[in-house]
Amino acid sequence: MITVLRLGHRRGRDDRISTHVGLTARQFGADRIIYSGKKDSNMMESLRDVCDRWGGDFEVEYREDFRRVIKDFEGLKVHLTMYGEPFQEQVSEIRQDMEDKDVLVIVGSQKVPREVYGYADYNIAVGNQPHSEVTATGIFLYELNGRKVPEVFEGAEVKVVPSEDQKLTETFDG
Ligand code: SAM
Repeated sequence: MITVLRLGHRRGRDDRISTHVGLTARQFGADRIIYSGKKDSNMMESLRDVCDRWGGDFEVEYREDFRRVIKDFEGLKVHLTMYGEPFQEQVSEIRQDMEDKDVLVIVGSQKVPREVYGYADYNIAVGNQPHSEVTATGIFLYELNGRKVPEVFEGAEVKVVPSEDQKLTETFDG
């Protein structure tokens, strides 16, 4: 099981980017996202609505105490940070270990508390330049899952029909 922990959500300011971290996590093979920071029921509800419509079992949770989430997590703790080691050097080791271990992928928003670096088993950079939690989540999970992009989301109400020149969808009765 892969969980993404999104630290330090700020209501209003982070709505869009936190939603996008969730959608990216879902698309690239995570099973769950846990938000910490300010509780934002509206943001989580709209993310759940999208997930219901597009299918799958992706879970959306809030935990106030991110330290507890990290400390209690049994499995591999991977913190994505521009200050970390290149992900290309670590990802195959993590992939091997995840055959029998759960993975917690931790991403920040504003400044990440220093202690998080110590809690993590891996501090990993997707390039050592600043960019975004959405990009870092997507690229890291894409590599972690062997460059596969999951296509099957059970129970979807709507599905895209890939098209070269049209916006096509198929809808299913719920
Ligand atoms: N200076 C901040 C810090 O403390 O790391 C960067 C904040 S950045 C806007 C928000 C999050 O995006 C970071 O906490 C990290 O999870 C992710 N991120 C940004 N650039 C990254 C990179 N090059 N590699 C991995 N993760 C990155």
